[in-house]
Amino acid sequence: NAQVIPFALHGVPREQISYGAKRVTDGLQAAGFKAFVVGGAVRDLLLDKIPKDFDVATDATPEEVKRVFRRSRIIGRRFRLVHVMFGEELVEVATFRCMIDTEDAQTDAHGRLLRDNEFGDQEQDAARRDFTANALFYDPTTQEIYDYHQGYQDTRNGVLRIIGDPLVRYREDPVRMLRAVRLSAKLGIALDPVTAAPIAQLKSLLDNVPEARMLDEVLKMLLSGRSVECIQQLRKMELHHGLLPLLDVIMEQPMGEKFIMLALKNTDERLSQEKSVSPAFLFACLLWHEVLSVWNGLVAKGERPLGAMHIAMDEVLARQKKKLAIPHRHDAVMKEIWLMQQRFDQRAGQRPYRLLEQPRFRAGFDFLLLRCASNEVDNDLGLWWDEFQDASEARRQEMLQPEG
Ligand code: ATP
Ligand code: MG
Repeated sequence: NAQVIPFALHGVPREQISYGAKRVTDGLQAAGFKAFVVGGAVRDLLLDKIPKDFDVATDATPEEVKRVFRRSRIIGRRFRLVHVMFGEELVEVATFRCMIDTEDAQTDAHGRLLRDNEFGDQEQDAARRDFTANALFYDPTTQEIYDYHQGYQDTRNGVLRIIGDPLVRYREDPVRMLRAVRLSAKLGIALDPVTAAPIAQLKSLLDNVPEARMLDEVLKMLLSGRSVECIQQLRKMELHHGLLPLLDVIMEQPMGEKFIMLALKNTDERLSQEKSVSPAFLFACLLWHEVLSVWNGLVAKGERPLGAMHIAMDEVLARQKKKLAIPHRHDAVMKEIWLMQQRFDQRAGQRPYRLLEQPRFRAGFDFLLLRCASNEVDNDLGLWWDEFQDASEARRQEMLQPEG
């Protein structure tokens, strides 16, 4: 039974709902269905943040939704959703779903839910969601919020609380543990103590999560704009072990940790300036000190530097992939960035000119600056390349080091 929170109390005007989401709720309601903006968008608006996207929940089936909107299509096999297009905007519309009864639910040996795609009513749809703040329904017509789990109060109090028994909910879907960390860090709100308590004890459940989902979630953390907070929080809850299997190793090397934290800070800053961040660059950062340590070992054994770099890169990538499936499509860029690092040392003759022409020069140079900032290499090297890039030809000739 929902508590209905009037506009006078919550103060979120319908003007803050995107054009497309408003059109979708209007259209569905005109056709006689229930329709609400739901999930992250309502939460973000209550916290004065700008929602990334607006999702709509309805009691209409996907087929019924499709009949209401000309420019729409049904997607997904497991959970069928409808994508409705309004110009550039795409609104995702989901039919209310319920959690499957524990008796006939298909769970794996660890209690993980294998499917949850039965249709349900609004109340059931609220109950299957993860956190109380994520289970609020906003009706743009009446400007009322429907709240089944005290999510409004929690959000106002700055608390992220799981719906139901945390043990059961984490077993159903261990990724919720990571979502708890990410959302509380990203939104700057506290994780409720009861929600946080079982995480340390259940963290091994993450071993059973499919790789692709783990990667998705780790990427969301790294690209959340609050990655430093996320990592600190993961650490506090001792969840960083096994996520990126090498992360714990890296974190234990003082140089590696400094480098990674600088890389993450740099990423957060870029995102706050709305600049793009490439996942490949980030992964290259996360694995760099591991590559370096393998490389150093090989060079100490007499391997030639370039050959050693190729072996080190392949070895680290192979190890990494066993756990966290970094897609192969990032390999090429990661390797280019790593390989470029040796070439920055070569500052004589034509070599610097050729390096500048590399399509990935900018990424390689940004990477070099992080190495300088973390004291892995001398700052002068970064400064030299900074100047050389924009220097006049005459100045470049002066800067070049003698051959040999
Ligand atoms: P973000 O700002 O990262 O998009 P979000 O809360 O919108 O945060 P989504 O992954 O877009 O996250 O999910 C949309 C909604 O679906 C959530 O608000 C929540 O209600 C529900 N949801 C998502 N993942 C889960 C999950 N693992 N278990 C239960 N409910 C979930
Ligand atoms: Mg979302």
